[in-house]
Amino acid sequence: MCSIQEDDQFRLESKSELNTGRVCMKCQNLAVVVIRVNDAFCRECFLKYCTHKFRSAFGKSKLIRDGDAVLVAVSGGQATTALVHLIQEGLSCRAQKKLRFNPTLVYIDEGAVINESREERLKVCSKMAALFKATSFPFHIIPFEKVMKESLRYDSDSSLAGYMESLTLENSLANQLRDLLDSTSSLTAKENLQSILRRRLLISLAEKLSISKVMTGETSTHLASQLLSSISQGRGKHVSDEMSFSDGRNQAVMFVRPLREFSSKETALYNRMMSLEPCIQPTLTTKTGLGSSIDRLTQSFVATLQAGFPSTVSTIFRTGEKLSSELDKNKEDDFCIMCQSVLDTDTPESSALSATLFSQKLSSVAVPGEKMCKETSGEENCCGEGDGSCKSTNKTGSLDKEDLLPLSCYGCRLILREMSSTTCIPGNIIQEAEKRIRRSAMKSSIQGYLLEDE
Ligand SMILES: [Zn+2]
Ligand SMILES: [Zn+2]
Repeated sequence: MCSIQEDDQFRLESKSELNTGRVCMKCQNLAVVVIRVNDAFCRECFLKYCTHKFRSAFGKSKLIRDGDAVLVAVSGGQATTALVHLIQEGLSCRAQKKLRFNPTLVYIDEGAVINESREERLKVCSKMAALFKATSFPFHIIPFEKVMKESLRYDSDSSLAGYMESLTLENSLANQLRDLLDSTSSLTAKENLQSILRRRLLISLAEKLSISKVMTGETSTHLASQLLSSISQGRGKHVSDEMSFSDGRNQAVMFVRPLREFSSKETALYNRMMSLEPCIQPTLTTKTGLGSSIDRLTQSFVATLQAGFPSTVSTIFRTGEKLSSELDKNKEDDFCIMCQSVLDTDTPESSALSATLFSQKLSSVAVPGEKMCKETSGEENCCGEGDGSCKSTNKTGSLDKEDLLPLSCYGCRLILREMSSTTCIPGNIIQEAEKRIRRSAMKSSIQGYLLEDE
């Protein structure tokens, strides 16, 4: 789902952009928009330019076939508002080359994250429901806290009365979600966690609906700032998946980004031309300073670039596109249990990661107050070996941070390290971790009997 923050920041700078006094570069009529420094368009040519660009994104990739069911994640911001309208136009018989997939819209109500009241949340949801109804596409509105449930159950009944009821029922989930986010200390980690959870929720909803493709609304501007943000958060190896038209990190559900050739300014102009009203929601970093999180900082940096030096934004985006990583996607246990990206932690000895791990190892040995499993310890909580061989702190039954770290990618390890407790981590993540730990224990116990595989 497109970042809402982005929409907030990349509002149209001034009315003058709609009153250019220049002529359209295509038809020489009076231009009403200037999208880059030298590209002036009249209304008609601008709309044609947008629909053409949108359609060609599908044409180029050939990933969405006729009749495919597609889940469209709508945040209500500028980008996804334009996305829904472009889909409507593309599917209508007015379109020259009709798109032929079957969209289902979904709005995730993330009000719980910023502690909105039930009434506030319901108000936004009814607005989104009205917008969705007008499209006549099937739609779902789900509360974000559902991601905390082990298995997602959703009602096909999209009525708002039912929704209100479910908010009351899921109140404990909302608290659990807030506890989870609050267990991290920085806003960067909270935002990161939020987007990981959002992605997981979209995947599980798509799976429930037997839909194998999810469409999201990232623009080139958004992706440029995400690129900078990901690299600074140690997620460099996942950048190519995050930037591409299709993101196949999850094997069952593919994410596609049909707006990635659009700048955020173009989507805002499109909405203005079409008199579409986005429904922009506050986020974790609303009304915080520019440096409150890495995402916030890179967004404002890219917004400044876009205003002053628009071509540099596409340079960042194009550079990101060229980055690729050669991670092996074939091993079933090589995915991060948190973000489901391919693990990037199998690095040579002289890497930054191994240096970090080494220093963490040294400092963890000497942590005072933490009880190590010792030979002499007869405590019940001992790992079971009782000879100190595990070199770990006493286990308390459920998985702790040290169990989860090796199953996570570098970026997610940073989040986990920041967490004060892991008790609020959604059950499905823990279950997956337990499964993996069992599998690897079994594997190592039979290792001696296996033939070497070449
Ligand atoms: Zn024109
Ligand atoms: Zn991860």
